[in-house]
Amino acid sequence: MKGDPRRYGFATRAIHAGQPPDPTTGAVTVPIYMTSTYVHDGLGEHKGFEYTRVHNPTRFALEDNVAALEEGVTGHAFASGMAAISALLTLVKAGEHVVVSQDVYGGTYRFFTQVLENYGLTFSWVDATSLDAIAAAIRPNTKMLFLETPTNPLMQITDLAAAAELAHRHGVLVAVDNTFLTPCLQRPLTLGVDVVVHSTTKYLNGHSDALGGVLVARDRKQGDWFYFVQKSAGAVMSPFDAFLLLRGIKTLPVRMAAHEASARVIAAYLADHPKVDRVLYPGLPGHPGFTIQQRQASGFGGMISFDLGSYDAAKRFLDRLEVMSLAESLGGVETLISHPATMTHASVPAERREALGIGDGMVRISVGIEELADLLADLERGLEAV
Ligand SMILES: *Cc1c(COP(=O)(O)O)cnc(C)c1O
Repeated sequence: MKGDPRRYGFATRAIHAGQPPDPTTGAVTVPIYMTSTYVHDGLGEHKGFEYTRVHNPTRFALEDNVAALEEGVTGHAFASGMAAISALLTLVKAGEHVVVSQDVYGGTYRFFTQVLENYGLTFSWVDATSLDAIAAAIRPNTKMLFLETPTNPLMQITDLAAAAELAHRHGVLVAVDNTFLTPCLQRPLTLGVDVVVHSTTKYLNGHSDALGGVLVARDRKQGDWFYFVQKSAGAVMSPFDAFLLLRGIKTLPVRMAAHEASARVIAAYLADHPKVDRVLYPGLPGHPGFTIQQRQASGFGGMISFDLGSYDAAKRFLDRLEVMSLAESLGGVETLISHPATMTHASVPAERREALGIGDGMVRISVGIEELADLLADLERGLEAV
């Protein structure tokens, strides 16, 4: 692929952006540059590479690739999604305030409330499906609006263009955790958002074999800061993980299409099932965020939550499954199923889970790309036990 990646379609960028043939051999795949340092030709002369915390060709290829997919200016890769989120939050200083979607990833909630609050940052947790709730939470010292859409595990949808417009009117920076939909289905920077963050551990890598995180900035000023934080704080992605991620991203469009095709069938099956109380999937026409999601994204993704009414029912169901793996995480080729109250959201206090609607009977599925018939049979087996 030659020239500006923006000339090409998404699937072409996924395979080629940031990855010209290796200049010395023509290798089509970016080599894994497992080196910590680089020899200088002479004093004051080097090839632009000095030390791997700051410069690594494999990581740079991945960063250029993700920046091209998100249509941002620069990409910055970290050792995990949480490392990327912590680098993002260095934009907020002591005495400043952040407005956050109330139903965020449990680890994000823990980091904000149990780490950053110790350093003079304050947080307001809002129902981000309501622009009025976001507006009411903004204060004179608000620096950032941090959103997830769809949220985890309640699948709530925020109107990103409207939220960004509202935040910008108050001089507030907008960051979106785009882990659930990936740039394949939703590109927040094109809707006015300032920074996108990912746990690449999930769909971007797609094979449940590497941890990682990225930040993509729309403005060079933020990008330059993230680069400085990578260099100064050092939680960068390893060359090997960057290689795995580049490999995974090549098939992102085909994987996302397969995840979603099966998720739609499974959501409809669950919605019709007498033993299932409610199904949360933004692709169901009855979902309150359906219309917004249809407008701002090109798909609905592969994540579904549903309620079986009680801990007992959820346990009987989960214990009977034979294909789906009971595990935290999501976005892999294999179907992962989890119980948010005791797994991903165990660090959220029980009263808070209750208030949000994350009941003890809630189950979350990350629909994989196995044979759909096998997945449906597995669900039927589990539901018979309820
Ligand atoms: C997993 C996840 C994270 C954290 O990423 P790690 O790679 O596990 O550190 C952040 N946000 C969302 C939405 C996630 O699913």
